[in-house]
Amino acid sequence: MSESDIVRSILKYLKTVPGCFCWKEHGGMYGTAGIPDIIACIGGRFYGFEVKTDKGSPTRSQEAVIGKIRKADGTAAVVRSYGEVEDILKNSIPGFAVCENCGKPFIRNGSRQKYCDSPECRNARNRKKAKAYYQRKKSR
Ligand SMILES: [Zn+2]
Repeated sequence: MSESDIVRSILKYLKTVPGCFCWKEHGGMYGTAGIPDIIACIGGRFYGFEVKTDKGSPTRSQEAVIGKIRKADGTAAVVRSYGEVEDILKNSIPGFAVCENCGKPFIRNGSRQKYCDSPECRNARNRKKAKAYYQRKKSR
């Protein structure tokens, strides 16, 4: 995967995250040196993702900016896949979870919630519950 492919997959993923506003930062001569490739604001939290391939490593100015974002209490990291972004969100957003039915991220409103609030996934949960109830009944 090229760096731009990884950027695209991360942006695609972030679009599924509730309460997320994000964009691809375009460098160039008028940009500020070292600004991470992807900037996101999720539920009031600031994120900067510097995207690299397996072999890539951040430049000095990129490392410096990551340090500055962290100093300002934001989250910044070098990432090599959207999975790494997902792990960072899991660890930094309370209640962040992945729906067991559709695989989309959602924010839990109860500690044991496993499915998102989409009607389809609610139905899937209810079907599963009904099935479990039936099986419990049968085994008695
Ligand atoms: Zn779902």
